[in-house]
Amino acid sequence: MADIPEHIAVKMAELEAQNQLRSLRLPIPGQVDLTSNDYLGLARRRGLETAALGSGGSRLLTGHHAVHAALEEECADLFEMESALLYSTGYMANVGLLSAIGGREGIFVHDELIHASLRDGLRLARGSVHRYRHQDYADLDRQLAELGPGCFVVTEALFSMDGDLLDLARLCAVTERHHAWLIVDEAHSTGLYGPKGAGWVLDQGYGNRVWMRIHTFGKSVGRHGAVVVGPQVVRDFLINRSRTVIYSTAMPPDQVVQIHWALREMQPMATERSHLLALRRHLEVRMNAIPEIAVPRSDSPIIPVIIPGNERVKSAAEALQASGFDVRPILAPTVARGTERLRIILHSYNTIEEVDRLVDALQTWQRQQGVLEFSGSN
Ligand code: PMP
Repeated sequence: MADIPEHIAVKMAELEAQNQLRSLRLPIPGQVDLTSNDYLGLARRRGLETAALGSGGSRLLTGHHAVHAALEEECADLFEMESALLYSTGYMANVGLLSAIGGREGIFVHDELIHASLRDGLRLARGSVHRYRHQDYADLDRQLAELGPGCFVVTEALFSMDGDLLDLARLCAVTERHHAWLIVDEAHSTGLYGPKGAGWVLDQGYGNRVWMRIHTFGKSVGRHGAVVVGPQVVRDFLINRSRTVIYSTAMPPDQVVQIHWALREMQPMATERSHLLALRRHLEVRMNAIPEIAVPRSDSPIIPVIIPGNERVKSAAEALQASGFDVRPILAPTVARGTERLRIILHSYNTIEEVDRLVDALQTWQRQQGVLEFSGSN
């Protein structure tokens, strides 16, 4: 008998042949970070000294401690919702929320570019699932008109691959017309928008028009975990029906204390937020001066630089890595073929000078490619 089931060997060979094999990579000291989700640099800040404690069980058993309740209260306050429920990760929040919220017959309609964790939650939901074209609210409108009132609409505030921000005016007009329940994942936007960094929905003034939101702590907050915020009665329902709350060990209290600390650090970081915006503007201007590169105008720190072709985008990433930048390529099929890209993520600790060097390095690579392509065609 072979050492491993055949489908595993076949799949691994297939991934290798298609240039899609992923592997783990340790950080390379000295490289400029243009990849992590640590937008505000809080993951690099040492938190409080806490003694590591276990939670001892699920929230419904011995895992519910005063610090959990205090963090949830603070989150309900900060995110201006009636209640908050803590999950151990954003992934678990999305799976736990979406698998439970629709009951047996929920009808879900989601943006086609939502994160894998939301999609996995929808796979476990027992109702039906439909999707609309990315931020295409005419498409959503048509589908909701057919499906009727009471659908759940699921989307993100800041899309992680395209880096675009949610058009709440158009979205809310449609969801309200069709009496849909709107759920927005603020994983990437938490920490970055609004005077306290409470996210895109509040910053844009749509707090009372979005039914539920997910705020995660693994990105700008620099820690781990997430809260689902919304009506108190839904929190009570989730405590009874959300399997990632009921059947999983609660977050250890010292981690809860760290999140609490980091959330308080995050709120006054207005200087960091405006520096990020200035970096984005600078990068837009510099990138758009390079032939064949087009970076969209946006207030987001995630910048897709489209370089079609898995081979080509990998070559660009390798050139930038050799110049000291931690930039990763995003390959097809993670993104649609022809839209392979470098995904550049800016942080408050990046500098204008780093952005300039990055653009110069990309231009150098492009020139070398031109020379190679030219000599290759002869
Ligand atoms: N939602 C979105 C949009 C995400 O990008 C991610 C993480 N990449 C998650 C949820 C999952 O959050 P976590 O990393 O806390 O599990």
